[in-house]
Amino acid sequence: MSKPEYVRTNKTEVKRKPDRGSYDRETVHSILDEGLVAHVGIVQDETPLVIPMAYGRVEERLYLHGSAASRLLRDARDLDVCVTVTLLDGLVLARSLINHSMNYRSVVIFGKAKQVTDVGEKSAALEAVTEHIISGRVADTRKNSAKEIKSTLVLSVPINEVSAKIRFGPPNDYEEDMELDVWAGVIPIGVAIGAPEPDEISGDLMAVPDYVKKWRR
Ligand SMILES: Cc1cc2nc3c(=O)[nH]c(=O)nc-3n(C[C@H](O)[C@H](O)[C@H](O)COP(=O)(O)OP(=O)(O)OC[C@H]3O[C@@H](n4cnc5c(N)ncnc54)[C@H](O)[C@@H]3O)c2cc1C
Repeated sequence: MSKPEYVRTNKTEVKRKPDRGSYDRETVHSILDEGLVAHVGIVQDETPLVIPMAYGRVEERLYLHGSAASRLLRDARDLDVCVTVTLLDGLVLARSLINHSMNYRSVVIFGKAKQVTDVGEKSAALEAVTEHIISGRVADTRKNSAKEIKSTLVLSVPINEVSAKIRFGPPNDYEEDMELDVWAGVIPIGVAIGAPEPDEISGDLMAVPDYVKKWRR
């Protein structure tokens, strides 16, 4: 049975182009799971501050991590945050300048970031961030020591007040522009992945692990 949609709030109701909005859990999860970078926004000294960060998702929680000295992590403890994750799928070229657009899938989360103090949850959250980026890596590497876990700050943001917005398809030109002698369409955009480059020690001696060879987004 599919899980119920996220509840819309005044903040998350998509007002502009509402047909592109979604509150479907699987849609939100799939965008979060495909993304690699979250833009985390807070208000600091009455000034907006937005920082790009890695993240991990465990069910309905988004975990952020960083040095205990990190400005955003230090200041975002128990603070309202707005987190966005964006997947860019294409450039939409219309016949008129005004109708140029982008194809995308994006998520906006509003929530209170809480510092994770429980060592077990903190350790699992740190592993979740790495597993989110490259699945299979945690099993292959040295685990975090107690000292490393202690020196890292982990924040947990509930995925609760959330919306997705999706644009796909060709440009939406005005009827009167359809006869113009201008090429219109979409340039699809994806993630280009290069061949893995071993460091000096791994060199040619070690086989590249499967999960590295097969990494895709
Ligand atoms: C790659 C990309 C490029 C874009 N370029 C432009 C641009 O150049 N100009 C422009 O006006 N808009 C652009 N957008 C759309 C933009 O994100 C907003 O949806 C739009 O500007 C309307 O903002 P608003 O606050 O007025 O919308 P409202 O509908 O008033 O927003 C209300 C609520 O809807 C939700 N919401 C709004 N936008 C999004 C979103 N993108 N993803 C998830 N939830 C959302 C949030 O919860 C928000 O609080 C772009 C989006 C993406 C992903």
